[in-house]
Amino acid sequence: MSELNLVLLGPPGAGKGTQAERLEEDFHLPYIATGNMLRAAVADGSDLGKQAQEHMKAGRLVPDELIIGLILECVEEDKCRDGFLLDGFPRNTEQAERLDAAMQKLDRRLNAALLIDVPDDEVVRRITGRRVCTKEGHVYHVETNPPKHDGVCDIDGSKLIQRDDDASDVIRERLSVYHEQTEPIVGYYEDRGVLKRFDGTRNPTEVHDHLRATIATLRLEDEI
Ligand code: AMP
Repeated sequence: MSELNLVLLGPPGAGKGTQAERLEEDFHLPYIATGNMLRAAVADGSDLGKQAQEHMKAGRLVPDELIIGLILECVEEDKCRDGFLLDGFPRNTEQAERLDAAMQKLDRRLNAALLIDVPDDEVVRRITGRRVCTKEGHVYHVETNPPKHDGVCDIDGSKLIQRDDDASDVIRERLSVYHEQTEPIVGYYEDRGVLKRFDGTRNPTEVHDHLRATIATLRLEDEI
């Protein structure tokens, strides 16, 4: 079977986590979400968590040396042999180049960078209402996707909270970091012919249908 090595791109609040949950099921790909890994490290109080915490709280990227090695190790693990779905990495050109180099060394390549695009004002609206569960990071919105019971995750019953970095002043900083540091890699992947764009303002089911069809086509093309 052909490999599916995929990267999800897009501003905070574009719906990457929501879509990843669905794609993980569709294609049985290991899902690697750097934000979730870092939040778990903060919750554990590990060295990584301690070093990452202040950057995350301020809405900045954590230093490359904390994250690149960790993610490349994940990608090289046996469970990612048939592919992976990366969310939150790469976040800048250095990370994109390092991922490419690691893949090349393994004689592999990225099949697609899936960009879910959403304008800034919609990002702000979505993120201020976002709530996540403390156990697995399942995502809700107080207006558009509320849980059945206030403050409780429908899926695993854990408590729902607002992420520290979802506070309205931090969102602006995260958006400017996205435009300055992460958006340049859209062009980087476009130049390499692997960029696929998706309209993230559509409803989650439509975005999912479009993503799933695109990935299925990629797999078919690769097999021909
Ligand atoms: P996310 O859940 O993807 O929005 O990530 C939350 C926070 O984790 C970001 O605002 C960054 O502080 C940090 N982070 C996640 N992924 C990376 C990365 N690839 N490089 C640097 N910082 C990251």
